[in-house]
Amino acid sequence: MKLLIFGAGGFIGSNLAEHLIEQGEHEVVGLDVTADKLAGIEGPNFKFVKGNIADADLANKLVADCDVVVDLIAYANPSIYVEKPLDVVHLNFFENMKILEYCLSHQKRLVQYSTSEVYGKRTRDESYSDDHSDLVMGPVQKQRWIYASSKQLLERIIYAHGVQGDLDYSIIRPFNFVGPRFDYLVPAGSKGGPRVFSHFLSALLTGGPIQLVDGGDKHRCFTHIKDACEAFSAILENPAGHNEIFNVGNPDTNTTMRGLAKMMQSIYGELTGTHPDNELIDIDGEDFYGKGYEDMDRVPPDVTKLMALGWKPTRDLDTIFREAIQYYLDRPDLTAAIR
Ligand code: NAD
Ligand code: UDP
Repeated sequence: MKLLIFGAGGFIGSNLAEHLIEQGEHEVVGLDVTADKLAGIEGPNFKFVKGNIADADLANKLVADCDVVVDLIAYANPSIYVEKPLDVVHLNFFENMKILEYCLSHQKRLVQYSTSEVYGKRTRDESYSDDHSDLVMGPVQKQRWIYASSKQLLERIIYAHGVQGDLDYSIIRPFNFVGPRFDYLVPAGSKGGPRVFSHFLSALLTGGPIQLVDGGDKHRCFTHIKDACEAFSAILENPAGHNEIFNVGNPDTNTTMRGLAKMMQSIYGELTGTHPDNELIDIDGEDFYGKGYEDMDRVPPDVTKLMALGWKPTRDLDTIFREAIQYYLDRPDLTAAIR
């Protein structure tokens, strides 16, 4: 098969490209505006095209020339949802709709990366079911929800085409994937910007405070990027992966952000032979991210449907964060700027 990855230069895209190159079973073409995270990721079955998804001629031509389109393009950091909500809806909905339209017109299979955030607010204790849980958003004034709303509407349109019978699709809902090449580092004490791993690691590298948004009592399940790439392959290769929505997550990694901060302190200490004693400080969500931010607690994913395809997550919480921290420790060029 010839796979086309839109957003191949990002965190998931670069890891997926590496995974597919190693497998060597498929031809892979990746498009992105940047190739920084693809440095050293090369192979005879991989070709990178530098370009913008807004270049309709280029995108349309690439879709016409492949078998499966993997769509990873989005703004995916919560700070952007409140800073630039219209840019989020433009890229994550309207530009993604164009990708869907190219797939429809050329009759190509679409693997769409959505988000676990479509489940929205936690309203019950049972795990999130791919097919049965309600999707519960906050008020319009809480602009954080523009991301989940955009993704949800895209999912609903893709699903409707599947029911209508003119689209072969799979929808993936990632539960906080982490691993090498995740996001970017920022000076300790920065607000907004990247996702939680990067903020906590920046604090550990500099000895600055670890900021716990709204007290750090919110839960997340984290997923090793390699487990996530294996889930992609299971969905791609299995007949039961077609026209379905899949939670991709590790239900056994559930932690609060306060628990995560303490665990990262301990792993960092072991890896560096130090005794990190960063102060853990509480910070208000709107102070950290900006007006319109609303945090939410989450429950673990139900991954029964995905496990029926022969997949199971094999990397625990410690491994996920140990490997992601080690990746940055091995690259002084990436840590130098914030030290
Ligand atoms: P990322 O920001 O690392 O990757 C997105 C990539 O899209 C970037 O490399 C970016 O340069 C590229 N891109 C953006 N605009 C573009 C444009 N106009 N033209 C071409 N390329 C463009 O994010 P990620 O973490 O790899 O996430 C990928 C997808 O998975 C997104 O759809 C995101 O919403 C979804 N997702 C990821 C997670 C996670 O745990 N990482 C969680 C939930 C959802
Ligand atoms: N968070 C935190 N400190 C930080 C950055 C984030 O306590 O320095 C919290 C954030 O409020 C949320 C959780 O960590 O409760 C996960 O945030 P992230 O941006 O990583 O991902 P998402 O909210 O999309 O799951």
